Amino acid sequence: MAEGKGKVYLVGAGPGNEELLTVKAFDVIKRADVIVYDRLISDSILSKIPDDIEKINVGKNAGSHPVPQHEINKILMSKALEGKNVVRLKGGDPFVFGRGGEELEFLYESDISFEVVPGITSAIAVAAYAGIPVTHRDFCSSLHIITGHSKDGGSLEIDYDSLVKLKGTLIFMMSVASFYKIAEGLIEAGMNPDMDAAVVENGTRPNQRKFISKLCDISKVIAENQVKSPAIIIVGKVCALSEKLDWFSKLPLYGCNVLVTGPKKTSEKLVGQLSRLGAYVIEYSCIDTEPLDFDIDIKEYSWVIFTSSLGVQIFFKKLNEADLDSRHLYNKKIAAVGSQTAEELLKHGIRADFVPSKFDGKHLAQELLDSGKITSKDKVIVFRAKNGAKELVDIFEKSNISYTDVPAYATRYIKNDTIDINNFNYITFTSESCVKGFTDSFENTIDYSKINAICIGEQTAKAARAYGMNTIISDIATVSSMVEKIVEIYCAK
Ligand code: SAH
Repeated sequence: MAEGKGKVYLVGAGPGNEELLTVKAFDVIKRADVIVYDRLISDSILSKIPDDIEKINVGKNAGSHPVPQHEINKILMSKALEGKNVVRLKGGDPFVFGRGGEELEFLYESDISFEVVPGITSAIAVAAYAGIPVTHRDFCSSLHIITGHSKDGGSLEIDYDSLVKLKGTLIFMMSVASFYKIAEGLIEAGMNPDMDAAVVENGTRPNQRKFISKLCDISKVIAENQVKSPAIIIVGKVCALSEKLDWFSKLPLYGCNVLVTGPKKTSEKLVGQLSRLGAYVIEYSCIDTEPLDFDIDIKEYSWVIFTSSLGVQIFFKKLNEADLDSRHLYNKKIAAVGSQTAEELLKHGIRADFVPSKFDGKHLAQELLDSGKITSKDKVIVFRAKNGAKELVDIFEKSNISYTDVPAYATRYIKNDTIDINNFNYITFTSESCVKGFTDSFENTIDYSKINAICIGEQTAKAARAYGMNTIISDIATVSSMVEKIVEIYCAK
């Protein structure tokens, strides 16, 4: 903990898509001791916050009501007085209907120092993700951001006459419930009831929904489609460009829901690639891995085999802890089960001598033997998961190859059955253990035949098939190939 008084950083988190968090916001978050956040902060942003940082949700308390403003102020003050670096994280930009100004006034009065990190406001970014440029020289010369929420629950204070006269683009926030009144006000003040309008819910997020209509019909559209907060409503001629300029809903995996079952540490790449293609991805870790203690004395061996990138990571961490480096492997031949494992080795300056044509343990062992690279004169050491698939070592066993099987890490299963599997187009499995963790969680409470399982290889698919899942195997055993497979089958539909 820091000495003396801490500081409060008022930070805008953007509209919810984690890639729209600014570089500075992320930097401040990583250095924080405490994060005090609102309801609008998306799960994908929360999951980027390191685990050791205290997180306080003031968007909801036990009764599911927001924590009152004076309580939030108290939290900020007391944490800062404890000498902590406090991040007050708000959706969008903290000064756009975010009460950021009020909180800073309080900190000023309390003699607590602060900094502000502006954020990307949903008012503009959400429109952009719906193909609506908020200004355009052919249509308007001003932009107005208006709240549909009155300060103390009283009547709205919107100057409809002025808004109509200005002919600018109007962006209404916090207006889902009150928009029928707002539309009436605008029409009574002389706006054409056929003026173009749009409502965008969960903008910039993979579950974004957009509806384009006329001003006079937009309240009906909101009701019929049960549009919920957070949503913005845009009124103005620029909305007519939405069809032409929409790029987000044209991403190949837009509308595709994917559940990713791997351990959190290794799922990042898969989640990132799928999200960037527009998929709605939920991370559902039903396994975790923990490094085991093992001996790194490999003097007597001629071949060292790695069956996963995690195994490589753990091996090199151990070397590092022992004040050693990759030269420890200097006169060894090295095999990697697949391209991802080989890539991980390259990060440590090691180029694998052998990668099999098909990325699994069986092909690895068989091809090493068939090519004569490993013979009975060799001594082999394998670093892999405890209780991992036995095919690789079985082949060495049968061929009388002298080998040592080193469990470098163990898999822990996490029971987690709160998800409705019917909401997903695909569920990804990157190992047999993922299938086991997933099925252990649900046991026999779900109909596995409804699951389209995207599997990294035949062994994983075999495990999924045993439960009756429909299995689809990626062409090669890599995360990128799994993503390509999902795009291929989703786009063919
Ligand atoms: N400071 C925030 C706005 C806070 S007011 C900002 O600059 O974005 C809350 C309102 O913001 C919501 O009622 C909604 O109108 C809008 N909003 C925030 N995030 C949104 C999102 N992802 N999609 C649509 N509207 C959003």
